[in-house]
This record gives sequence, structure tokens and C-alpha cells, in this order.
Amino acid sequence: MQRLNRRDTIKHLALGTVAGLAVPPCLAAEPDPATTRKTEIWPAVDVLVCGGGPAGIAAAMMAGRQGARVLLAERYGRLGGMAVQAMVGPLMGDVESTWVKQIIDGLGGRKVDYEFADLKYAAMLEEARADFLLHAAVAEPRRDGNRVTGARLLTKQGLIDVPARVVVDATGDGDVAFAAGAQFEQGRGAGPAWPADGLVQPMSIMFRVSGVSHTESMDTHGGRNRYRFPDGRSWDELCRDANAKGELPKMVGKVRTYSSHREDQRVINATQVNHVDGTKVRDLTQAELEGRRQVEPVLAFLRKHAPGFRDAYVSGMPAVIGVRETRRILGDEYLTVKEIVDGARSASAVVRKAEFSIDIHNPDGIGQAQGVSSEHPLGTDPKCRPYDIPYGCLLPRGIEGLLVAGRCISGSHEAMASYRVQVIAMATGVAAGVAAALAARQDVAPRALEVVQIQKVAFGTA
Ligand SMILES: Cc1cc2nc3c(=O)[nH]c(=O)nc-3n(C[C@H](O)[C@H](O)[C@H](O)COP(=O)(O)OP(=O)(O)OC[C@H]3O[C@@H](n4cnc5c(N)ncnc54)[C@H](O)[C@@H]3O)c2cc1C
Repeated sequence: MQRLNRRDTIKHLALGTVAGLAVPPCLAAEPDPATTRKTEIWPAVDVLVCGGGPAGIAAAMMAGRQGARVLLAERYGRLGGMAVQAMVGPLMGDVESTWVKQIIDGLGGRKVDYEFADLKYAAMLEEARADFLLHAAVAEPRRDGNRVTGARLLTKQGLIDVPARVVVDATGDGDVAFAAGAQFEQGRGAGPAWPADGLVQPMSIMFRVSGVSHTESMDTHGGRNRYRFPDGRSWDELCRDANAKGELPKMVGKVRTYSSHREDQRVINATQVNHVDGTKVRDLTQAELEGRRQVEPVLAFLRKHAPGFRDAYVSGMPAVIGVRETRRILGDEYLTVKEIVDGARSASAVVRKAEFSIDIHNPDGIGQAQGVSSEHPLGTDPKCRPYDIPYGCLLPRGIEGLLVAGRCISGSHEAMASYRVQVIAMATGVAAGVAAALAARQDVAPRALEVVQIQKVAFGTA
């Protein structure tokens, strides 16, 4: 065997030519053209859905049911979006839609089963013959001028180009629309007590605790909101006092306990990271750590004060932090808070009778806030009347071949605080999936469809 000195070894390793030795590929200097990664071209589809949250899954299902060739691309390893990845739940909001009802029934109800919800969603997609890829992040749209013609996926096997007749952006953040040059808004405008500072709702690390005594807990006293401590204080008042005394982290002024699938478990919605932007990687990194660091003090507070929590322990942490608000892609139409509070109906509705409060977690401090008017000061939560979402909210201005669905549709900061919840997000997905499949079948731009065609399927039952 040839003997090599140190200098020879380094030289040969650099050239990848050590005689008789297996050189680890990672040390080869020149890439081997035979193994160099190339951008693959995926077989063309009718509808490419980007993002596998409630909106994306509903869109893919509806497009699949109509016979479209569908591919859904999800960046993480589980379907379900915020619910599954960030332990968000229960499914909130209401709409008039038999399709959405079917999805909720398929999930087994509104309480999210964090362990198996992704498999339930997968079964629904399979039944609808909608193909999907996990671990497939959408890197950028394919474009022909202002028309989106598919997307490029970033995967472990390399880049994959997926040509598509119509693309649905259900990434929550409007990633595809943004990269296609769509106009968008982010954050709040001026409110009764603040300037237009562009701040968004805070992020939160939801977490699960086990070891809760059901018989002692606040639930058995008619729920957290009705419970009174011996000194007459409510749970919310106790939380606010604890925050003022420094017993809870600075931004945690409200500790929400949600029941779970098991009697001894609760999901805790309390941690709060303000002044961070979910479209900035540095902010996301910082928020993940800050949110997780708040968990232990919140647990200690629960164990000390919450009835039934004395022996509670953390039994589940989410894969990623929950992001409530980022880009709102500006569409042909725009939903305002007035329309939501008034319960506006629309001839071009593709979602009917959506209903949820304007639920703004304070962008600049503890607790809940909202920005409707001075009649609704910080901490109040105006109710909306059932409202419609018009088709134009799903059509990014000036861009063809693309629909948006979910929390990134066109509307104001305050309006989004209502339509962001999962049940309403699903309904926008239903509408986008129906529209995408129709447009692909008729070989027209989604914008060219007659709304009544979408309504017929989206509001139908078959
Ligand atoms: C802390 C918190 C608590 C909440 N509490 C509730 C609650 O109790 N009840 C309720 O109904 N709603 C709640 N919400 C709101 C709700 O969870 C979301 O607004 C809702 O999930 C939005 O649905 P979506 O499909 O638009 O987006 P998401 O659920 O965010 O789904 C988007 C999907 O797209 C994927 N994705 C993103 N970018 C890419 C990309 N580039 N390529 C491929 N895939 C991508 C994501 O991984 C994700 O799976 C809460 C939200 C937060 C953050």
C-alpha cells in the first residue's frame, strides 16, 4: 500500500484521488456531474396548493373532488398547519358550509387531536384524490410575466419545479403572492389610542400540561370565566395581579386553559412575544426562544394558583411557535372591520355567514386589544354579525393564475382578527379550491370565472 505523508494526503484528498483509498464524497474537490443536483420537473398539475393548513387542505380536497389533478406542498412533516405544528385549538369560528362541516366531522369535532389530526387530514386528501408532498417548502413561484404558472419546491432531493394551471397560496404568510410581487399590508393602522405603527399580533408558544385534577379544576365550577376565588377575584383578575407583581412574565397578563381530549390534560395559551415579525428569520429565531422561556414561569404560576394544577407538568411542546398575523395580500376586494361588525352580505360571496369576534391579542402590551373605535377600549372584544367574504378577497391584485386562502386573504388588520380562525380559514380554502379547479378545467384565469359558478359548488352539497 502506498504510504502518504501529511502534505501528500491533503493534496490527494483535495483532488479526491487517493489510490486504493475510499475517499468520502464530502471531501472530493470537484462535484461529480453525474450526481450534481439538478432542478427536477414534476409532472404538470391542474392545481398546486401551497401550504397544508386548514385552508390549504380544504382547497386541495375541493379541487380533487372536482376531478382536478392536485398537488399540495407542505414545508413541514405534518399536515394541519398551526393546529398541529403549534398546538393551536380548538377549531373556532362558524360558517354556513356543508363542506366545512364535513371536514370538522372528519377530524372528530372541534377539539384538535394533536397526535392524529394530521393523519385524519391525510385520509381526507387521499379520499379526494388530492396528492400531497411533505417536507416540500415552496421557494418561489414560476412566472410568466404577471401570471403564476406553478412553483419551485425546495426539497432534500433538490429543487423541484411544479408546473400548474392554477396555484393556491395557503401558506398563511402569503409567501407565493409576496414572491410574485403582489401588494400586501402588514400590521395595524392608527387606532383610538395609538399611531399607525404596523405592529402585528404577538406570537405564542402553546403548550400542553398533564396531571391536572379534573374534579378540582376550574372547569367543574362552570368554566375558567365563571370561577371565583374566595376573595371574589376572577381568574383573569388574578392573572393581571400576578403580572403586575412580576410573578408572570412581563407580557403574560392572561393565562387561558383549554380542555383537551384527556381529562387530566389542558392546553395553555398564555406566552406572548410582542414586537416580532413572522416574515423575518431573525425575529422568528428570537421568538421561539423567548416564547419557550416563558413556559416554566407560567407553569409555576398555574401550579401555585390554579385549582387542580398542583401536580401539573408539561407534557407537550409544539414544533414551532404560533404566528397569528403576517402579510395580508391585497385583493380585488378588501374586507373591512365595519363589514364584519355590521354583518355585510355580498353578491360575490364565496364564504357565507362567517362568524367570530374581532380577537386581537394586544400587539403592544399584555392581554387582548382591538382597534375598532374609542367605544371599544383595550380589552373588549366586539362581536360581529355573520358576514360574507367576497371572491375578490381571494384574488391578488394584478396577478393572474393565483388565488389566496386562509389568514392571508385581503382585509384589514381588525377584519383579519376575525377571519383568521380555522373554521373560516377552511371556508376560504373551500372557495379557492373550487375556483382553482373550475379555472383549470375551463382554461381561464380564476379572475375570469363567473362567481355564480363557484357559489354553486362551494354552497352546494355534492
Ligand atoms: C397562538 C395561536 C392561537 C390560536 N388559537 C386559535 C384557536 O384557538 N382556534 C382557532 O380556530 N384558531 C386559532 N388561531 C388561528 C389559526 O390557527 C390560524 O389563523 C389558522 O390556522 C390559519 O389557517 P391557514 O391555513 O391560513 O394557515 P396555517 O394554519 O398557518 O397553515 C399554513 C401552512 O402552510 C405551510 N407553509 C407556510 N409556508 C410555506 C411554504 N413556503 N411552503 C410550503 N408550506 C408552507 C405551513 O407549514 C402550514 O402548514 C391561533 C393562532 C395562533 C398563532
